Amino acid sequence: MSGYVIELTGVSRTYPGGVTALREVDLRIGYGELVAVVGPSGSGKSTMLHLIGTLDRPSSGSVRIDRHDVSTLTDRQLSALRGTRIGFVFQQFHLAAGMPVLDNVADGLLYAGVPLRQRRRRAEAALRRVGLGHRLHHRPHELSGGERQRVAVARAVVGEPAVLLADEPTGNLDSASGTSVLALLHGLHEQGTTVVVITHDQQVAAGLPRRVVLRDGRVVHDSGRTPAVPA
Ligand code: ADP
Repeated sequence: MSGYVIELTGVSRTYPGGVTALREVDLRIGYGELVAVVGPSGSGKSTMLHLIGTLDRPSSGSVRIDRHDVSTLTDRQLSALRGTRIGFVFQQFHLAAGMPVLDNVADGLLYAGVPLRQRRRRAEAALRRVGLGHRLHHRPHELSGGERQRVAVARAVVGEPAVLLADEPTGNLDSASGTSVLALLHGLHEQGTTVVVITHDQQVAAGLPRRVVLRDGRVVHDSGRTPAVPA
């Protein structure tokens, strides 16, 4: 698919109180890319994540996600865009405790209005895709950290979003589990998913094909567009 899934043009974000967390940021990410947004604490990564995830709006400049100009959408339309076109993975997994992983993943389709039986069927397929087909009925506390993060990735991609946003996805994992979660993200990218990883970890960023470096709210380096993956 041609075009950009994420287009930030002249984007600034100043918080009430006067801190400017992003300054005149221009960033274009194409469909199918695998990108790290990297920078030290306080450089503006979370602010960028919130803007790309449509959880916040810019103070100035324009944000387009999956070809929608965020400024033209009502809050309700924005929630629909977020619920159906953006998958989120967080450092803390954010799974519902006590609920089988199959249902945790099936919940990723609630917004799309998919009937329960189909939600479960698609959840099972997504869990197989992340290598957890043998853990469908386990509860999160019965799984390792690496497995929990795989469940979170399955939930994020079950609705086939335009972009998967992963916020420090390996931050809570030992290095072996972290490596396997990164391998999973690479595998999804190879199958065509657009993946943006937000991280302060230079080593994580170094393993990804494109790196966008933030410092003091500005993009100070962009290693360039990820070559398209052959279909
Ligand atoms: P990072 O994720 O790279 O650590 P952030 O985007 O969280 O960076 O923060 C960038 C700057 O914006 C920091 O100076 C931070 O203190 C400030 N900031 C972040 N969120 C808020 C907020 N809700 N209100 C005021 N200032 C904020």
